[in-house]
Amino acid sequence: MKPAFSCIIIGVICILAFFLLKKDPTRSVQYIISKPKVILIQPLGNFDIKLAKLNLKALSNNHYGCRLLKPIPHFPASYYKPRDRYRADSILKFLRYKYGPDTLVIALSRQDISTTKKLIKDWGIMGLAHSPGNVGVVSTYRLDRNKLAEQLYKVSIHELGHTQGLPHCPDTNCYMRDASGGNPLNSEKDFCAKCKKFMQLKGWKV
Ligand SMILES: [Zn+2]
Ligand SMILES: [Zn+2]
Repeated sequence: MKPAFSCIIIGVICILAFFLLKKDPTRSVQYIISKPKVILIQPLGNFDIKLAKLNLKALSNNHYGCRLLKPIPHFPASYYKPRDRYRADSILKFLRYKYGPDTLVIALSRQDISTTKKLIKDWGIMGLAHSPGNVGVVSTYRLDRNKLAEQLYKVSIHELGHTQGLPHCPDTNCYMRDASGGNPLNSEKDFCAKCKKFMQLKGWKV
């Protein structure tokens, strides 16, 4: 091949490559590598800030970016007067509107929270999250007072697991077990191998 002809071919390839890359931004490396979302920890009402800081510390071991936000009042429209508690599904709805889609938010409440479970209209719970989604809420109301920080972490990581798309797990030692109306948190030790692998593939340090 003559040198002049080779130069023309190389030139054409370079021009084509330039236009193709320019038109399709997903070809650049920064779009191919997705960054794990930042977790925002949002205390509600009079939540104990010392406890929120302990939760921040514990969750920071599992994720690359965690931030503790300043407390905000409970959403008044989430209040369920007949039982003097807050509707968790309503809290999630407000959180979803308040924060962008690129942020994972876990709200912390000292007050009791509830949801509708099958035929039970108002069922008290420890936590709730959209699954998959980007919002969760945890209440310390039903937790063991002597193991508050540890149990708060366990419920928080459970709800964050749901946000990543993890369902409940049959392993009774796994963070993803279903509480079924009780408080089985003392028997939870870690994620089971299957749930752990799922979280690791999503970029979590678990
Ligand atoms: Zn659950
Ligand atoms: Zn599991």
